[in-house]
Amino acid sequence: MNSSEWFNEISDQLWPGQCFSLKVKRVLHEERSAFQDIKVLDTVSYGTVLVLDGIIQCTERDEFAYQEMIAFLPLCSHPNPKKVLIVGGGDGGVAREVVKHPLVEEVHQVEIDDRVVELSKKYLPFMACGFDSPKLKLTIGDGFEYMKQREGEFDVIITDSSDPIGPAESLFQESYFGLAKRALKPNGIICSQGGTFWVNMNHVKETMDHCKKNFPVVGYGLASVPSYPSGQIGFFIASLNKHTIFKNPTKTFSDEEVDQMKLRYYTTEMHRTAFTLPRYAAKHLY
Ligand code: SAM
Repeated sequence: MNSSEWFNEISDQLWPGQCFSLKVKRVLHEERSAFQDIKVLDTVSYGTVLVLDGIIQCTERDEFAYQEMIAFLPLCSHPNPKKVLIVGGGDGGVAREVVKHPLVEEVHQVEIDDRVVELSKKYLPFMACGFDSPKLKLTIGDGFEYMKQREGEFDVIITDSSDPIGPAESLFQESYFGLAKRALKPNGIICSQGGTFWVNMNHVKETMDHCKKNFPVVGYGLASVPSYPSGQIGFFIASLNKHTIFKNPTKTFSDEEVDQMKLRYYTTEMHRTAFTLPRYAAKHLY
């Protein structure tokens, strides 16, 4: 694509008939990795943007909303999230947030595409700084295969994947949630990127049902992220502890703690309200 054009996010499979567009100042990088098409764009109103297989992954302007919520919703629902696994997350943004949690001691991350990691270090350093933490161990590999080899290891598993086409397809299958369940310690919690019911209710429902088959408690939390289709994204969250109530975080933060951790979206109040769904979505999903 040329600079000074519009980037149009078109997907006939995922959101037919609609398109979000960003005006591009400059194409910073374009390549085809072993797994996907990668673009890094400098845009007029959303800063630097990472695009995989034609789909926006994160933008400099609003990425914090997604990273903070996918990290802190599960971490603050668990009484002692010492050991965490991140699947995907090649931009480093989720790792940046997870290592801030005071009880997290050890973070393992498995990302399939080392080119996403390298390009994020170069063009998205405000996110890739997550890889610098001494708490983090990064493995390059397929998250599905990695999960097959893990049993009873993690308190929290966060799946920060791209959408369910291409390399991330397996991370939305029922068998993936079965493997994640096995990889958790007793009372463990998972949280996965969950698309949005505005554009694909059937897919959200199907993936929720996969979670319900494996976990006694399942929820769907919401965040407002303008650069995702429909401006909203959801998170599948599930617990092995049947007493978990996602609306009631086990760990709360004061305003001072929120500021110390440099959180700009997540607060204890945002956590409590994230699980309140519009009536029609609640009827479909629960
Ligand atoms: N926040 C973003 C979103 O909601 O679209 C996702 C960001 S992150 C860049 C997604 C990452 O998942 C990508 O770096 C991609 O390479 C990685 N990924 C896709 N399939 C994977 C798999 N099977 N195992 C591990 N990582 C995978």
